[in-house]
Amino acid sequence: MSDGAAKTLLRSGNTALIERALPHLTTRDPRRFWTSGQWMTESTGGSDVGSSETIARKDEAGQWRLYGRKWFASAATSQMTLTLARPEGNPPGGKGLALFYLETRNDRGALNRIKMLRLKDKLGTRKVPTAELMLEGTPAQLVYGPDNGVHNIIPMLHITRTWNSVTSVAAMRRGIALARDYAAKRSAFGAPLSQQPLHLDTLAALQAEFEAAFHLSFYLIELLGRDEAGELSESETALLRMLTSVVKLTTGRAVTPAISEVLEAIGGAGYVEDTGLPLLLRDSQVFPIWEGTTNVLSLDTLKALREPAAIIALQERFAKARESQKIAPLQALGKQADQALASAVAWLNNAKEDAALQAGARGLALTLGRSLALALLAEHAQWAIDHEQDRRPLAAAQRFAASGIRFIRDADLSQNQALANDTPLN
Ligand SMILES: Cc1cc2nc3c(=O)[nH]c(=O)nc-3n(C[C@H](O)[C@H](O)[C@H](O)COP(=O)(O)OP(=O)(O)OC[C@H]3O[C@@H](n4cnc5c(N)ncnc54)[C@H](O)[C@@H]3O)c2cc1C
Repeated sequence: MSDGAAKTLLRSGNTALIERALPHLTTRDPRRFWTSGQWMTESTGGSDVGSSETIARKDEAGQWRLYGRKWFASAATSQMTLTLARPEGNPPGGKGLALFYLETRNDRGALNRIKMLRLKDKLGTRKVPTAELMLEGTPAQLVYGPDNGVHNIIPMLHITRTWNSVTSVAAMRRGIALARDYAAKRSAFGAPLSQQPLHLDTLAALQAEFEAAFHLSFYLIELLGRDEAGELSESETALLRMLTSVVKLTTGRAVTPAISEVLEAIGGAGYVEDTGLPLLLRDSQVFPIWEGTTNVLSLDTLKALREPAAIIALQERFAKARESQKIAPLQALGKQADQALASAVAWLNNAKEDAALQAGARGLALTLGRSLALALLAEHAQWAIDHEQDRRPLAAAQRFAASGIRFIRDADLSQNQALANDTPLN
């Protein structure tokens, strides 16, 4: 969030705030370093932040002051935050909200008219305490103008979603390292687990999922880096916007089942707190939820796809990967990835009703994410064969492909109604 706040302030061009906060957010001196929060979620909604109820009002001295309850404010120890509030008289919805900057403590170190109502008793991520808090006339400054707040906070979300992908990959890698180590040391039925064919098959599947998530996340980061260097074409910019959601949701869906498998791979010990593994599982459950749940990001992907340039850029990236694939097994994988992408594009073009599009959006987004992961894995596999004489990345690509990359499905809306509500279907 600190990284995202720095980027958002830089993008805003608000010189006063940049000069005030950037040196703190970017310093490596712990005495001057600040972290930033991002207070959006209210009890009325985290996905639907347009319904936020926090009010912004100017006092007699012309100072903006915020009044309202923020319901899920993480990094409660942070020195500053970016937050949304509705200037009095603004219309309802996201457009009527404005993006504000505020510092949590005054010169004396006391909270700046912020009442901490309670700390959330969370499943995991307890190292980053989350507060439910009340803004009681907290002084704040506009980052941009007095509206369009939901739009203006997007740079923050792009960075936090990217970090969410990276930390999902990191959690998977840590879990696999522990499972691999355990397999080398633990004997069962007369041989180490690392020599038991079925256990190896389980670890191989985990490694393939991890490598896919790794390539996906670091392709996103490559695009982000090129964006920051001003090197992206217009269509790649649209691709970056779409992939930020797609990669976050694809890695967020992969991590919790992977860590759960790690616990099982370590047997009963994996369930015991002093191994640290239950903590890893609890912490991993945040990845699919915060910064946009799988469904909300799937709908966001649909929105991003209104820009045809995003799909064109994605097709070009698949074509580039295909060009590099020289050996037959990799060409077969490249073709499988292309076919999954083509089926996603065809489904999108054929879907007529908005309800059907929404109901199928998760399948669409996961197909885009997993087919791109396969294309990138296959591209890397060719590189590894050419430069390192290593066929292990080929094995990862093949194993990942076998676990499924195409999730396109025409949802039956009346079946969904009956099943979701447990009502009869005639
Ligand atoms: C550990 C943790 C830390 C957090 N830290 C912060 C923080 O620092 N700052 C902050 O602002 N927020 C924070 N949050 C809040 C988080 O971002 C929200 O909880 C999240 O965005 C979901 O919003 P919600 O809770 O309102 O769920 P809801 O929006 O009520 O969603 C409930 C379910 O409905 C689904 N859903 C919602 N709308 C649709 C739709 N249109 N179509 C289909 N499905 C839909 C969702 O996918 C979800 O499964 C944090 C959450 C967690 C778990």
